Amino acid sequence: MKPKYPESKQRRIILLYALAVLLPGILLGILAWRGIQNDQARREKEGRARLQSTRDAFCLSMDSIVIAEMEQLTRTIPGKNKPNFPDFVQLAFHQSGTGDPDLLKYNLLFIPDSTNSVIQGQPNRSTAFMEALRIEQMGREPKKAINQFNKSIQSAKNANEVLDAQLAIARIYKKLNKPDDAIDEWRKIEPRFPMWKINGKMPVKLIAITEKARLFATLGKQDSVINEVKSGYAFLAQPGMAYEASLYRLFKTQLEQWKALCNPEIDSLRKTLQIRQDETDFYIRLIRERNPLVLEGGLKPPGIIQGLHRFPFNRTNGSFLFLNVESAEGERFGMVMDLGALIKSKAESVMQRADSMNALSWIIRDKQDNMLVNRNNSEKNEFIHFDLTADFPGWTLSIKENEMNWVDGILSKGTGTFLLIFLFIGLIMVLGLIFTLYTLNQELKLNRLKSDFIANVSHELKSPLTSIRHLMDLLHTNRVKTVDQRKKYYATMIEQTEHLSYLIENILDFSRLEDNRKKYRMKEIDYLQLLDSWTGQLDDHARSRDISIIRVWGSGLPKVSIDPDAIQQVIFNLLDNALKYSDESKRIEISVDADGKEVRTCIRDWGYGIAKKDQDKVFDRFYRCEDNLFRGIKGSGIGLTIVRKIVTDHGGRITLESSPGEGSTFCFYLPFKPERNHEENTSG
Ligand code: ADP
Repeated sequence: MKPKYPESKQRRIILLYALAVLLPGILLGILAWRGIQNDQARREKEGRARLQSTRDAFCLSMDSIVIAEMEQLTRTIPGKNKPNFPDFVQLAFHQSGTGDPDLLKYNLLFIPDSTNSVIQGQPNRSTAFMEALRIEQMGREPKKAINQFNKSIQSAKNANEVLDAQLAIARIYKKLNKPDDAIDEWRKIEPRFPMWKINGKMPVKLIAITEKARLFATLGKQDSVINEVKSGYAFLAQPGMAYEASLYRLFKTQLEQWKALCNPEIDSLRKTLQIRQDETDFYIRLIRERNPLVLEGGLKPPGIIQGLHRFPFNRTNGSFLFLNVESAEGERFGMVMDLGALIKSKAESVMQRADSMNALSWIIRDKQDNMLVNRNNSEKNEFIHFDLTADFPGWTLSIKENEMNWVDGILSKGTGTFLLIFLFIGLIMVLGLIFTLYTLNQELKLNRLKSDFIANVSHELKSPLTSIRHLMDLLHTNRVKTVDQRKKYYATMIEQTEHLSYLIENILDFSRLEDNRKKYRMKEIDYLQLLDSWTGQLDDHARSRDISIIRVWGSGLPKVSIDPDAIQQVIFNLLDNALKYSDESKRIEISVDADGKEVRTCIRDWGYGIAKKDQDKVFDRFYRCEDNLFRGIKGSGIGLTIVRKIVTDHGGRITLESSPGEGSTFCFYLPFKPERNHEENTSG
């Protein structure tokens, strides 16, 4: 028999879930989703603006680095202090008059003539040296002159004098046509004065090389000539020797005379030398030109320093920036910066300042698309490319934001918030679903229990009725002959009707208790006296099942305030259960005692007992342990529910101790004076 109403209730619950949770959830979800999309567009826009401002900050900082170098240059007092230029400054010069400018820093093969010219005073020579010079000039006794020069070397006051004496010896050997000796002398000079310059201009090493080459040529030693020429070119190609252009060309022409000695190594050395020479010529032209803009033409952004002109240019070995400032009086300062070196040395720290949180990835590429600096911490997100300033034509700065880690992402404004809303909605929906399923399940369970209850109750009511009907039938048809027999039948009928009314009372009470409609009539009474009478009523019933009820009454029990009818129901229910579930056992014990506050009543049997898992549930409405179904013991599953409700309504409590096969003990405790006034407590 399937009641109709629960199905519609299930449908109502599902409908409620759909209306209260699912529909708003979906709506909110759509809103949150749109929010995420709008937010993404807004964040992209903001992100681009942020990147643009990072680029601007970067460019401004780079520009101020350039300007700071120029300012530093213009503050130098030429000839007195040479500023320490950073590596990216290739070349710095100052020009006060009309001649060639002074070079303050350079990395050139040669420098313009008469630049940095060293004015040397007449050196102070020893008498031994002057004597040797005199003998040499006489020209008659060259050997004596050599000896005298050697002597002067022993007593020389400084390295200059040693050098001059050795040069003189080499010179005399050459005149004497003794090339081997002259070569030996040059070989002695060379290691002694490797970077030395005569009069601050002529490199000793180069003189030695060209002299030796010439001497080897007179000896016909071609291999040695080749070796010397090779080292001559290598030396010339060495930057930073700073001899003047005319000297450079002089030595170069000298080496050129052996150009016919084709040697691949020499050829390639000459080629690199030519490239460096062209570079150097270019730079000299650049610093000589009063208005260098005419050289390249074009770009002329206003400088911060008044009169500052700047223009970028490209050479085969990189990109450069030329800066030139000229005062009204015609004083000029200028410098060339290597842009690649500038970026490599400064970009990292400048970017660090612009992006202190390290939230960006970035790359700088030059005009040829070479990557110069790169910090890429992120796999995702697209780079946005920006131009650098006019100082860096064709260069790009590519920037992107690194992706956030998921915690920051969720905690961030915008998407994070929407994502949280999303998660929240999801959670609510899942919780709603769980709750709905739980409620449905409970409903179904209750539904089943109720059906079982109706079946059980009908069954329980039916058996006393059947028995009464049967006995009445016998009596009615005068089939009972003896008076004793008749009396016994009447007694059974009375007992069965009492049982019937007890069952009905139980059911009625159950519904009253469920709705809190039961009214208690509290009375101060002698509890033991009542117990005697109640248990007495069950004695016959117990005896009919061969079971004896043992009473253990404590002494000195005070009067208690209870509703006698309700407590009787408690006792009947517990004793009825003890009788029902006693199995083969033949005794039941009911004991009463008291401590200072409450009365304890325990009903104990030695029957089937209750499994641990069921012990909490037996007090639930309609609950019956499954074992009883197999045993065929009748019951409705509301007895213990009523018992617990009445006991707790009296301000008491109930406990159960039981183990299967050993029996059960139900104890309930009632306070002498209940705290609550149950007459008021009841409603209905
Ligand atoms: P019922 O009408 O089924 O007896 P109750 O609410 O009185 O309903 O008891 C609930 C269930 O608790 C019973 O079905 C039974 O399985 C178990 N139970 C109650 N009292 C005892 C007992 N004294 N011994 C064993 N089982 C018991």
